[in-house]
Amino acid sequence: MGWQNILKNTIGEAGVMKEVEATLAEEYKEWSTTDVTVDGRAIHLIVQKGMGPHIACKITDRDGKTNMDEVLRTGANKIVDPKKLDAYIKVFMEMVKPTYRSLNWFYEVAETTNGIEIQLAGVLVEGKYGNIYRINTESLKSSGCYEVTTDEGYDICIEIAEEKPAGDNLLGLALGLLNDEQSSESIEGLTDYLSDSASVDCRVCSNYNEIQISEEQFTCNNCQATTTLTNIQFAPGFEADYEVEDAQGPDGRFQPEYSHHTEDIFFVGNKLFRINSPEEFDLTVRNSPELILEPTNSDIWIYDRTPYNEEGYELDMYEVQDKLLGDDDFIKFAVEHLEEDMGDIYHYLEYVNLSGNLWADDKGEFLDGDGNVRRGFYYERNRRMGIY
Ligand SMILES: [Zn+2]
Repeated sequence: MGWQNILKNTIGEAGVMKEVEATLAEEYKEWSTTDVTVDGRAIHLIVQKGMGPHIACKITDRDGKTNMDEVLRTGANKIVDPKKLDAYIKVFMEMVKPTYRSLNWFYEVAETTNGIEIQLAGVLVEGKYGNIYRINTESLKSSGCYEVTTDEGYDICIEIAEEKPAGDNLLGLALGLLNDEQSSESIEGLTDYLSDSASVDCRVCSNYNEIQISEEQFTCNNCQATTTLTNIQFAPGFEADYEVEDAQGPDGRFQPEYSHHTEDIFFVGNKLFRINSPEEFDLTVRNSPELILEPTNSDIWIYDRTPYNEEGYELDMYEVQDKLLGDDDFIKFAVEHLEEDMGDIYHYLEYVNLSGNLWADDKGEFLDGDGNVRRGFYYERNRRMGIY
């Protein structure tokens, strides 16, 4: 028994991988294999050729041929049987062979094809109409695809066939991107990207808008709110994050998604306006944007013969009285705009009811007996104003 066998006898799992790597390096001299891992379902390799990109490869172990426990270990101890190690490496090499062969094939074709360029950062492909795609070969997404990034920085996830060796997949992908116009029908993800259009519902009003994706922004044709698209990707269908832009309102900037009323009408506080003409607004009852207030000549607004202030809050009679100059104005205002009973108004004014419609004002002078009895009698004023 030579020293190699003695070593093999005590080798652990990491040692097995070293053996595998050494055999790979010997077998595929032009490739450096920078990472080898094996799990229950697949062999994962990261390989590199010269100044080319790192390429992640997954070799699905459908038959469980590389299962460590089965192949290498005997019972609970982790001592390796040299015969089993040799058998393991043989199985391993058989399984990875199509992958390396396919990668060599990929390099051969790619290096002689216009429009495909192998770089350290990935495989660059120029599509038929000048679109530049970069295949990120360094990692496989959990969905099993190589990520493709467009010139604009969008990610396209293009499904690959898991049962095919890495080089076949890469070559198929590169050629598909090279002829992007033709292959868009079969490569899901390219379709939306090349058509540059999508149907998107407005985050403010739910209206569907046909948008041009590359604009990365759209204005809803119903509510006029502007939405910016971020994190655009094709995975494989068009997806993005939506951010509604702040807009100009009567009180400065506001967030349309929280202020939409109907169609292109928005409200901020109790101001109701169109997004494109924030200066022209209606005042409404607070928290009821459908109840539009009517202005009066005073600092008082009316809805349904009820008084409100500018902020849309209801005013009581004292507050109405405060905003008007004198009793005459108050009485006139009440008659014109409010639903108040005139008796209540006189009560607010603390007038004295003498009898029936006969009221005395608060001066207290008309009862002093000096003959000035008419001065405070409101029935007289009311008669002049045409109230009764
Ligand atoms: Zn909208």
